[in-house]
Amino acid sequence: MSVPNDGSIVGVAPSATPGVSPSAGPAVLPDADQLVRVPFERLRAAWRAQTTPPDVKARLAVLAKLQAWIVAHQEDIAKAISADFGHRSHHETIAAELALAATDLQHTRAQLSSWARPESRATFWGFLPASSRLVRQPLGIVGIVVPWNYPFQLAVMPLTAAIAAGNRVLLKPSELTPRTGELVRAMVKEVFPPDQVDVVTGGADVGGAFARLPFDHLFFTGSTSVGRMVMRAAAENLTPVTLELGGKSPVLVHASYDPARAAESVAAGKLLNAGQTCIAPDYVLIAPERVDAFVKGYERSVTQMYPRIVDNPDYTSIINDRHYARLDALLADAVKKGATVKQINPANEAVGDSRKFFPTLVLGATPDMALMQDEIFGPILPVVAVTSVDDAIRFVNDNPRPLALYYFDDDGARVENVLARTTSGGASVNATLYHMAQHDMPFGGVGASGMGRYHGFDGFRTFSHEKSVFYQTRLNGTASLRPPYGKMFGALMKLFVR
Ligand code: NAD
Repeated sequence: MSVPNDGSIVGVAPSATPGVSPSAGPAVLPDADQLVRVPFERLRAAWRAQTTPPDVKARLAVLAKLQAWIVAHQEDIAKAISADFGHRSHHETIAAELALAATDLQHTRAQLSSWARPESRATFWGFLPASSRLVRQPLGIVGIVVPWNYPFQLAVMPLTAAIAAGNRVLLKPSELTPRTGELVRAMVKEVFPPDQVDVVTGGADVGGAFARLPFDHLFFTGSTSVGRMVMRAAAENLTPVTLELGGKSPVLVHASYDPARAAESVAAGKLLNAGQTCIAPDYVLIAPERVDAFVKGYERSVTQMYPRIVDNPDYTSIINDRHYARLDALLADAVKKGATVKQINPANEAVGDSRKFFPTLVLGATPDMALMQDEIFGPILPVVAVTSVDDAIRFVNDNPRPLALYYFDDDGARVENVLARTTSGGASVNATLYHMAQHDMPFGGVGASGMGRYHGFDGFRTFSHEKSVFYQTRLNGTASLRPPYGKMFGALMKLFVR
């Protein structure tokens, strides 16, 4: 497969309809609903035809194959993502796409046998000697919708969990990362039979049709606005959803914490993938007397990490012109409303056609500015002065619940206080981003930043039905619970109702 400069992909259907392979045949190409319906029906037919779902051994074998494919295709994956972005740091792809996906696969493969074992639960004494068990079984056909910002990892990690739980999967990559989408399609073709996992590609129309399919579970990663549409469509089929959404993740820096140290961590978290990260620090709340030191520390950290920006292979481009213009417009709006903008351009470079957006600090941001209302999703960082921790907490709580919250403070009691008084999907203390890389902790949002969770065991649970099973014994006392109600029934009820 080759990728010409115009962004189209040679090797898929020459006519423009996305997701239709040349073998699909008819001159009149199917509309979005048909496009997604065909592979969905194939998966569903295979699900219905199977006598039992794949056992743990079969799941482990296919997960091992998936892991081997990723290890063998690291360079192809990095190249495809970089071509989709214009430029994506190779190191960032290795760490944030491949290492995350591979270590999650390792963790899943090591733990799957114990996760899949039925779990003994207490039986209420009135029913003894019966026993009770929680049995986790696959849900059936799972839909996974993928965004563009980590187009490989955000396909593979939910896929890993869904397959570990024994499901069949239909994946939809983002139309903004077509090369990675085609690579994911190639991966799926090589690793899985077509009636176990399949891929459909396309934009909003295909996404809309996809969300209307009667999946047994729909797993969506993307924006809050599209998440709303997905949930509305899924409601028609009573399809349960996991929504991994975005939002504005705040950073709170206590006045006693070294602002330069905080700035180092915030800059690293903010500039990974040029800020196009769902849990990127969105804005900073800090004491007024610490703003200057934070700004200096941030500029120093950026310069150390990226002495050059445009020329630097480790600084990632903005995904497309539309998003670049959106970031420019956020700054223009902030300036118009009185903010001061500090662009960090250590080597005094020109952007040219690189689509690299210089790291930028915004001072004096106010709530009426668009960049304090919308998720920034780029390397712009507003630094807002707040006079106390209470004010910072109020600020956070006056806004929709964020996906992540970062608090910098060495005082353990204050840390617990801030965590207790704020609600976010996850949090890191004295660090940014790292809570999401812990495979034994669930990852997900709350409120406007999403619902549901995955990673590790929590991903396995998301894609499993947890069935409560009661096992009766031949000898038991439950006859007394049936009419005609006798003395034993009365005595038992007296014991229960008290
Ligand atoms: P998006 O919502 O625009 O698109 C996401 C996916 O949904 C794409 O595949 C798109 O084609 C599809 N889609 C579009 N319209 C649809 C519809 N009507 N029905 C169903 N699917 C539809 O998001 P994006 O711009 O690709 O990604 C950026 C957003 O994703 C940011 O808000 C970011 O914070 C969020 N995000 C969240 C996480 C997380 O784990 N919580 C991770 C990465 C990104």
